[in-house]
Formats: sequence, C-alpha cells, structure tokens
Amino acid sequence: MALREIVLYGNPALRIKARTVDEIDDDLRQLVQDMVETMDAAEGIGLAAPQVAESLALCVVNNGLIDEDAEPQAYINPEIIHADGEIEVEEGCLSIPDVREDVRRPETIKVRYLDIDGKQQEEECGGMLARVLQHEIDHLNGVLFVDRISSIKRQLLQKRLKLIATGG
Ligand SMILES: [Zn+2]
Repeated sequence: MALREIVLYGNPALRIKARTVDEIDDDLRQLVQDMVETMDAAEGIGLAAPQVAESLALCVVNNGLIDEDAEPQAYINPEIIHADGEIEVEEGCLSIPDVREDVRRPETIKVRYLDIDGKQQEEECGGMLARVLQHEIDHLNGVLFVDRISSIKRQLLQKRLKLIATGG
C-alpha cells in the first residue's frame, strides 16, 4: 500500500473526463487500496481517481464515516440513473483545501456501478452518501464543486483559488 499525492485545484488532471474502467485487474485493485489509504490519511469522506492524477472512472467512499459498521467502498464506472428532490448542503474537497460552500444538488439518487469484483450494482441512497457520490462523480467528469456555486460566491473565492493553484 502507498499514499498517493492528492492534486490541487489548478492541476489539469482535475479537468479531464476520466476514462471508463474496462478491466478490474491487480493494478486497479492496488489503486483502490492506495486511494482508500490516501483518503483515510487526509481524513476525507470520498476520493476520485482524478484527484490522484489517474484518469479512470473510479471513486472510493469512506462509508465508515456514514455508518460505523461499513467498510470503505469502491464505485467503478458509476453513473447516476435517477435523481429526486433538491437540497443545499455545505461541501468541501481535498483538492480545494480550506474552502467550504453550500451546493444545491438532488437529495436522493440511484447509482449504477461496478463493485470491486466487477459485479454490476444499483444503489438508491440519500443523505451524506448521495451527496458524496454526486461530488465524486462530478470529479470523474472534470467538474468541481466550486463550479456549482453562484458566480458572485465564486468571485469572492478567486483570490483563495488562485493561491491554491499557484501553491500558496
Ligand atoms: Zn472533491
């Protein structure tokens, strides 16, 4: 196992649409393990492969923070196939340190994905898990949560974002 470097706002890896995973092999399983370890070390609740500069449609979620009996879980090629409601919740991102903003998103979703054994799964969820998965799936499309806030709020963040992008 190894910790991976989390790339920050301004890194082009965060803006690329991730490639579909077409084989779950040892390399991919290793990447998932590394991502879980990296997420835990950073005390994150979710991490998408583009955040460790891997262009693959894959994210991990620290389900243990949502339900203490649950293990971290990988979502491979996840897609939202149904969404309902709307709710505003504060979000942050390991790639955008010290920035938190309210983001409006659907409240409940249904996600289709492959699990680590390559089995297709469908999961309906709400609450924290729905929020984290939508944030991570955005990453797989090169979208960041600060893209989803009002332009006025984003304007107010410009200085902070620029500092992150330049390593400040
Ligand atoms: Zn994020």
